[in-house]
Amino acid sequence: MPQPRELLRQIPAVDELLRRPGLAPLWSEIGPAAARRVIAAELDALRRAPSPAAVAALEPRLVEAARRYRQASLRPVINATGVVLHTNLGRAPLGAPAAARLAAVAANYTNLEFDLATGRRGRRDRHLEPLLAALTGAERTLVVNNNAAALVLALNTLVLENAGEVLVSRGELVEIGETFRIADIVTRGGATLVEVGATNRTRLADYRAALSPRTRLILRVHRSNFTQEGFVEQPPLAELAALAREAGIPLLEDLGSGCLSPQPGMEGEPTVAASLRAGVDLVTYSGDKLLGGPQAGLMSGRAALLDRLRANPLYRALRLDRLRLAALEATLDAYGREAWDEIPVLAMLAGEGLEARVRAFATQIPAWLRAEAVPGESVAGGGARPGQRLRGLVIALAPDGVSAGELQARLRRAAPPIIARVGRDRCLLDLRTVFPGQEAELLAALERARRE
Ligand SMILES: *Cc1c(COP(=O)(O)O)cnc(C)c1O
Repeated sequence: MPQPRELLRQIPAVDELLRRPGLAPLWSEIGPAAARRVIAAELDALRRAPSPAAVAALEPRLVEAARRYRQASLRPVINATGVVLHTNLGRAPLGAPAAARLAAVAANYTNLEFDLATGRRGRRDRHLEPLLAALTGAERTLVVNNNAAALVLALNTLVLENAGEVLVSRGELVEIGETFRIADIVTRGGATLVEVGATNRTRLADYRAALSPRTRLILRVHRSNFTQEGFVEQPPLAELAALAREAGIPLLEDLGSGCLSPQPGMEGEPTVAASLRAGVDLVTYSGDKLLGGPQAGLMSGRAALLDRLRANPLYRALRLDRLRLAALEATLDAYGREAWDEIPVLAMLAGEGLEARVRAFATQIPAWLRAEAVPGESVAGGGARPGQRLRGLVIALAPDGVSAGELQARLRRAAPPIIARVGRDRCLLDLRTVFPGQEAELLAALERARRE
């Protein structure tokens, strides 16, 4: 056994490794500065735990480190979980036309804020207006970073500026995502939250009794991410709108998942158009939930209110960039043409032809995985359609010789990574969220998973 000091002497210098013929092409790919950093990090690790085997394996380790460096951190994965709007996996995937529009706009100058007719300065929020007016009946729509931002902008403009009160039912004081709570957004900027009714029942009379000269707004929150059943009651939207009108204050509805047109798999979901018809003054909703577009927060409603929101300096900090505007316009254009198959989220929720796909796919899976098509359930996810189960067939794998959890981990390390679920000691693949064009890659990864 060589002594540690002797081992340390065997570790090559950075410059020598930079010149090595076997490695030089790799370094020219990532550039000299990155190459030095990658080499230095590997050498540091080696000096901390020197061993003959580690010294001998230095070259392959450098190749692997350079590969890791080159690999993007944010990259596509195959979602085999069946959770259509998986927040951790980026929610709604864009349809091909929307992705193409985004790419075209990304690599070019655009008329983002330029009026091609007059040659003067234009407005970015005008591009979507005709489509959104047709789809929702709204006088005007403004678009910002996400629905949370839309809520912040609306509350900041309509309430916080003059530190008034907001009425919210106790049954709607929701937490939207990690620690983002309706109650906190309302109170953070100095407005007073006035809780109305009880957790399970809030009547119109409760709202009426809570009105005061300082009330600036009634906020209604759609239960898009949880359900209540049993002894529950809330006033119909139209009655609440009438009360707000009578009091001379706006009714704001946070519709959350924001359905534009209920398609198969989202039956009974309230639409933006229906809320506006019921008399809501301003509706906020997400672009990347049931709408199936890019991350965005849309605010549709009365022109006078939206003009005030637009004039708030916060709008500039929250507004949407041209890439997502392009993707959103293309998605809305698909709605306009009723081209449902261009919006992946809608196709996945509908799940048409899923059973036949699952059965055909299951027969191609290598025998050692002992695949079986079994009844299963997918969910919409992403804070939309809670309690709804989308029934279908899923593929259950009981691999020979490795645990379901180990197979799940191997699939996650595949290229592209495959995200699967584990249930009752089996690894579950739900093809509802796998694009038909990804099936070959999925199959190849399943074949490779044995040898890992
Ligand atoms: C999802 C959701 C939000 C937040 O929307 P983001 O686009 O994720 O910011 C707000 N309110 C409700 C009711 C929601 O369901």
